[in-house]
Amino acid sequence: MNYNVDEKGYYGEFGGAYIPEMLYPNVEELRQQYIAVMSSPEFQEEFQSLLREYVGRPTPLYFAKRMSEKYGAKIYLKREDLCHTGAHKVNNTIGQILMAQRLGKKRIIAETGAGQHGVATATVCALMGLECIVYMGEIDIARQAPNVARMKMLGATVVPALSGSRTLKDATNEAIRDWINNPTDTHYIIGSVVGPHPYPDMVARFQSVISEEIKAQLQEKEGRSNPDFVVACVGGGSNAAGAYYHYLDQPEVGIIAVEAAGKGIHSGASAATSALGKMGIIHGSKTLLMQTDDGQITEPYSISAGLDYPGVGPMHAHLFTSGRGEFISVTDDDAMNAGLALSKLEGIIPAIESSHALAIFETRKFKKDDVVVVNLSGRGDKDLNTYIEYFKL
Ligand SMILES: *Cc1c(COP(=O)(O)O)cnc(C)c1O
Repeated sequence: MNYNVDEKGYYGEFGGAYIPEMLYPNVEELRQQYIAVMSSPEFQEEFQSLLREYVGRPTPLYFAKRMSEKYGAKIYLKREDLCHTGAHKVNNTIGQILMAQRLGKKRIIAETGAGQHGVATATVCALMGLECIVYMGEIDIARQAPNVARMKMLGATVVPALSGSRTLKDATNEAIRDWINNPTDTHYIIGSVVGPHPYPDMVARFQSVISEEIKAQLQEKEGRSNPDFVVACVGGGSNAAGAYYHYLDQPEVGIIAVEAAGKGIHSGASAATSALGKMGIIHGSKTLLMQTDDGQITEPYSISAGLDYPGVGPMHAHLFTSGRGEFISVTDDDAMNAGLALSKLEGIIPAIESSHALAIFETRKFKKDDVVVVNLSGRGDKDLNTYIEYFKL
């Protein structure tokens, strides 16, 4: 079984490029070039140098001693929360800005929901001196004021999407419309392993630095490069794809994906795509998504903005249906408590997305000498208000 993308852009039966005709030239240009560009020594040198000097890589693989004692396993945390900007998303935006430059693009567009991807994109545009336009639903702009301010400070133009529900999907429609109208000078930076081929594969390759580092760091600490399990939360699936990447074809490494169950899988307020999703097309790819019987996309819900997405990337849809990945969903309450527990046990305040991954230890039992690597996708500063309200701090 192959868990990577095939030459047609599919993971098993998922993936592909289901796009309007007018977008075809843009996506096709990227598809023809991305592997050659990424594998050139000159690209790799600049990418690696920025990851080291600007992002602060390699991030530590930290042995969480007190957490390990509590749960009876050898738990390591991959510290993506220590990346510049506070999460893994910048690994991808650095890669894509370099790609855009190689393709001769002068203008960058992106869509954002909670604003995290918008900030990561605005950051690298400032770094490279490129024009940056971020589409964001009008409702989300009101809800996410600090991230809107960050993007403006970084020099980006934030354009409100005024149609539909004025949230992420409407912002995506605006970004696609922009790209159709500006086919030659503009690159569209997508923020997760979603979208038409080649985006899921390209983003997974940029994020694969995570598992590349885990291998070397685990070899040093445990004398073996493979853990027994690697655990990550899944919104679109980019931090998870990066953490799994070099282990996909190593059957002895268990892959655990954690989704947001919101107020409960069957509460009508969740984002547990593997449990609830059916095959459909979203953002240009065929994947599992939450939808009504007549194919309308269901509004997702999670306390964590980064997991509040109605689909998963095609790689994860395939990991789920093939059985290669074990999918677990975690409620808001369990995630919040796991975030507080990590803060008190290890002195690390995690993003609420990452808290979902940490929450599995309450129910999923491991053997005492199992080596379990949890990808700590981001830090909790951005979520402080949610923690304050939830715990009445
Ligand atoms: C955006 C985000 C996620 C979810 O996105 P993926 O593409 O699934 O990784 C998870 N954690 C943090 C901290 C994020 O900012």
